[in-house]
Amino acid sequence: MGSWPWGRMADECDVHLVPIVSAEGCVYCRRFLADAPPGSAMTEGARLEELEQWLAARLSVPAELLYRRIEELVGRRISLSELEDPDLLLQRARGPRRAWDWDDW
Ligand SMILES: [Zn+2]
Repeated sequence: MGSWPWGRMADECDVHLVPIVSAEGCVYCRRFLADAPPGSAMTEGARLEELEQWLAARLSVPAELLYRRIEELVGRRISLSELEDPDLLLQRARGPRRAWDWDDW
C-alpha cells in the first residue's frame, strides 16, 4: 500500500486524549469504528463533521482502518494522494456530486 501520507501513528489520540500504547491504536477510536453507522445511513452534515475530525487529527488507529472509514464517509474510493491534501478532499466531499468521483454509481 506504500507509505501512509500521515506517517506514523500518534503517541496520543487527539480526539480522546489517551496515550496510544500499541499498534492497535486508540481503543476508543477502534470501538467507535467498530460500531460506526454506514455512511449511507448518516446525514451529509454528520458525515462531513466526522470526516473533518479524522482529517484534522493525527493517526490514532491503523491506517488501513481509517482509510476504509474515510472512503465510507466520502462515499467513494479515494486515492492516497487525496489524503495528502485533506483540505481538497473535504472540499470535494462537500461540493456537488460530480460524475468524475462517482464512477461506482
Ligand atoms: Zn481515540
